[in-house]
Amino acid sequence: MEIGGVLFTEADIRSRVAALAEEVDEHYAGESCTVVSVLKGGCLFTADLIRRLTMPLYLSFAAVSSYRSGTTGGNPRIEFFPTDHEIRGRRVLVVDDILDTGRTLAFLRDVLVEAGVKEFKTCVLLDKPSRRITDFQADFRGFEVPDVFVAGYGLDYAGRYRNLPDIVGMRPGISPQ
Ligand code: 5GP
Ligand code: MG
Repeated sequence: MEIGGVLFTEADIRSRVAALAEEVDEHYAGESCTVVSVLKGGCLFTADLIRRLTMPLYLSFAAVSSYRSGTTGGNPRIEFFPTDHEIRGRRVLVVDDILDTGRTLAFLRDVLVEAGVKEFKTCVLLDKPSRRITDFQADFRGFEVPDVFVAGYGLDYAGRYRNLPDIVGMRPGISPQ
């Protein structure tokens, strides 16, 4: 795969994140919450989003890996999880880079609800609804994207490109070195 076209520029992302932050801010109306950033891809988006939020918040992280057998999907597994006091009885906002099949966020929702969160909400920068295999919907979302593999602004292709300031589509071609 190689880098194809730019889907969203740094400026596109900045203005959409600002608008999204206003929506999120309105929802919390000054009440505190725990933001759970989904590693690794969600960390750049989280960093930009939370600097525009005004309610008191705690920042935490989660990492989920899925061992996929071909394209049929695999079982998600927790690799890293917030501590009990960061989430129990609290309003929790999970922030991720992209909502694809929905498996990751549906799994995190189940685990967080089981852990006793008071409210579960999700905010994703990108939404690829054509790939959904669960009925999962994000509460807040930035952009809808077509069924292309995207990279940049936290999203990787084979571990690379997370540091690109724009979001690009990848297309079949040479592999990264
Ligand atoms: P889901 O569980 O919704 O299928 O997948 C969510 C995760 O898969 C995302 O957090 C992201 O890590 C990865 N993912 C899904 N689509 C893409 C994509 O187009 N590009 C990249 N880089 N990662 C993706
Ligand atoms: Mg991810």
